[in-house]
Amino acid sequence: MFDIIIVGAGPAGLTSALYALRANKKVLVLEAKAYGGQIINASLLENYPGLPNVSGFDFATNLYNQVKDLGGTIKFETVIRIEDDKTVITNKDKYQAKAIILATGAENRKLNIDREEELVGRGVSYCATCDGNFYKNKTVAVVGGGNTALEDAVYLSNIASHVYVIHRRDTFRGEVHYINELKNKENVEFILNSNVTKLIGSDRLNAIEVTNNDGTKKEINVDGLFVAVGQAPKNEIFKNIIELDDKGYIISEDGVHTNQEGIYVAGDTRVKDLRQLTTAVSDGAIAATTAIKEMED
Ligand code: NAP
Repeated sequence: MFDIIIVGAGPAGLTSALYALRANKKVLVLEAKAYGGQIINASLLENYPGLPNVSGFDFATNLYNQVKDLGGTIKFETVIRIEDDKTVITNKDKYQAKAIILATGAENRKLNIDREEELVGRGVSYCATCDGNFYKNKTVAVVGGGNTALEDAVYLSNIASHVYVIHRRDTFRGEVHYINELKNKENVEFILNSNVTKLIGSDRLNAIEVTNNDGTKKEINVDGLFVAVGQAPKNEIFKNIIELDDKGYIISEDGVHTNQEGIYVAGDTRVKDLRQLTTAVSDGAIAATTAIKEMED
């Protein structure tokens, strides 16, 4: 029997573990893949207070070691199911806890084209605020038509020499004020009704093929491609007991409790406005302290 089982070893989950361990609780963290979550893709944190020159990988590794050094148990197992009696079933075992914190994060949606994974960090990025500064006075493209893509394009237009905004339709899902701002920028060019269909370059990206919905193709030289086509949570396995919104994010009225007593949520996986490292670690601290307080009450 553990005091707290945390599902997910990203910044939210590991911060929950840190707080719970420092309160002398017996903690198990379960992670399906690798520790660190999305932040390991960030070359430098840059917008995390006080740590401008630390890489996402170093941050995650330090946090992981911090949790291990405090005696936290971290198992790399895939959670398959959670029961409302707080039993957690994985692909390898079965565990029980007094409280559970769900910190499963969200994944950036991919374009699902050839070489996309291979070129991550070598021209392909899913995070403009993390990687934008590497493209000073260079040419970049942003794919997507939502607020993230538009906000990324605004941000990149102040760094890069030229920004293409590539969207698969002729109208944007994102807010009109971003569109107007982008239209007023001399270094921003819209490519509408189009998809990125090929990534070109040997060691790193240096061009993309863009295909218009009418079938015409063109090659554009770019140094960077920022993919901003939305995120997707991974909460299907919880839907037997946990209330999710229509996109699969965990609903929490106060940002910490789920609809199940003793099951809490932290980080990108919950319904929230700002998905950043700062808000993920904040959620983690709040979820752990709330769980501990309610367990002791
Ligand atoms: P989003 O709103 O879901 O937009 C995703 C965009 O990517 C859509 O334009 C979609 O095209 C396009 N897309 C999806 N799959 C694609 C594919 N395979 N190939 C090409 N394009 C594809 O995602 P988001 O922009 O990340 O925003 C997520 C949420 O956070 C939204 O609610 C957003 O408003 C919010 N947000 C708010 C702010 C802010 O208020 N400042 C900033 C960022 C995000 P279609 O339009 O054709 O479907």
